[in-house]
Amino acid sequence: MKPTLKKYPALRRHAIKKDAVRLSLYLLWLLAWLFGALGYNAGHQKDPLHRGITDWKLALWMLAAALIGFFLFRVYKTLLHPTVSGVILRTGLSHSYTHGEGSGSETVAYDFRHRTVLHLHTDKQKKRRVRFEQKTGSYLYYQTGEQILRFHGFAYPLNLNPTAPHGYVCISCGRIHSQYTEHCEGCALPLIDPKELNSRKQ
Ligand SMILES: [Zn+2]
Repeated sequence: MKPTLKKYPALRRHAIKKDAVRLSLYLLWLLAWLFGALGYNAGHQKDPLHRGITDWKLALWMLAAALIGFFLFRVYKTLLHPTVSGVILRTGLSHSYTHGEGSGSETVAYDFRHRTVLHLHTDKQKKRRVRFEQKTGSYLYYQTGEQILRFHGFAYPLNLNPTAPHGYVCISCGRIHSQYTEHCEGCALPLIDPKELNSRKQ
């Protein structure tokens, strides 16, 4: 059975809204470029030194708009990040520090991030990489050989392994809460207990 967020309507709405905003901005962006080119052509119609943006030039112009917008508005997250479930084959971490003002022992407020890559063998017998950035130090949560589930529209996978550390997971910001609260302390979205999701699946 394909896992869904049916039981979590607020999370589902959140994902749909993010996709809708992304695609609307992308569409507006493409229209802006198109009307920009058409406006330029209209403005230089009688100027013999200017050749308008037409034919292949217009195609190239729109291709550039499509490519830039694809990354600018992260349209790839809508189109290329489906719900994925699989077993972790390998995990990769890279650490980065952003230091604050000051020197030596006076340094204050640094930002510590784990850029995480999980290499998966998916339930559909494919290989796939899932990338996300951990800011809350939950990197021990994802271990090789464990079954995970990442929902479309959210960065953070759930650990479905029966022996996974207990916790209520925010799939939006990655916070793991040991005590149950109705909403995430960080982003106020509902939390998921992976164990509950597991038992519902069967
Ligand atoms: Zn959260």
